[in-house]
Amino acid sequence: MSESFDFVIVGKGMMGAAAARHLSLTGARVALVGPDEPDDWANHGGVFASHYDNARITRTIDNDPVWARLARRSIERYREIAAASGIEFYYEVGCLIAAPAPGGGFDYLERVELARDRLGVEAPLIAGEYLVARFPWFCFPKGYAGVHEAQGAGYINPRALVRAQTVAAEKSGARVIPAEVVFIEETTRSINVSTIEGHTLCAGACSWRPAASRSPRRCCQGRSI
Ligand SMILES: Cc1cc2nc3c(=O)[nH]c(=O)nc-3n(C[C@H](O)[C@H](O)[C@H](O)COP(=O)(O)OP(=O)(O)OC[C@H]3O[C@@H](n4cnc5c(N)ncnc54)[C@H](O)[C@@H]3O)c2cc1C
Repeated sequence: MSESFDFVIVGKGMMGAAAARHLSLTGARVALVGPDEPDDWANHGGVFASHYDNARITRTIDNDPVWARLARRSIERYREIAAASGIEFYYEVGCLIAAPAPGGGFDYLERVELARDRLGVEAPLIAGEYLVARFPWFCFPKGYAGVHEAQGAGYINPRALVRAQTVAAEKSGARVIPAEVVFIEETTRSINVSTIEGHTLCAGACSWRPAASRSPRRCCQGRSI
């Protein structure tokens, strides 16, 4: 089976699912290709992903101002993605960055405070007994303090976020193909992608040739067909 699209996105993970949602919102014909999470991790021989669990920290404060701005813009869009998909994935429980208190030999929290002030984020430094009283479920080493970003930070469920992005992309017309890609061929006018089941997808200006005449052959993730 062969199909053509404007874009074929390989990898239905955090980045691929987001790219599919954005591209399909423009009206482009989009295919998002990637396997679902395996039921049996131990005996799974195919490709794997880094989002197969339930929590990823999300926060704004960071030394890199570009990273921080992108993080803030992403966090501002979580509600929109949840509304578009009907899938909740964000838990605004706050983020605490704890380390030895400022003034000692370790300046990590001083640098966090500088980054916080540059970004204008509301996140007080909490030290000593106040830190223990505010977060009694943690066991802090003596002399620790923490910068607490209470709003616009917390964690996302990465499995749920991928599902939400995928559902929102489908609602905007993207085609989701749950398969592993084993071959990608780039020509001057198109990109041809083959799945392990023999499904062929083309992005760009597509003109199909029989698979046997394709050259050169390449493989993904160490597999060839
Ligand atoms: C233990 C751990 C903790 C982390 N904690 C945080 C955190 O707290 N905060 C944070 O922001 N980030 C965290 N990260 C990083 C974050 O999870 C990754 O940056 C993010 O998942 C990367 O997204 P991705 O789409 O590039 O990759 P992935 O989410 O791994 O998605 C890649 C997708 O491509 C698919 N794929 C691969 N090969 C093929 C193929 N041949 N054909 C088809 N599909 C293919 C895979 O199946 C997968 O679905 C953590 C990562 C790990 C592993």
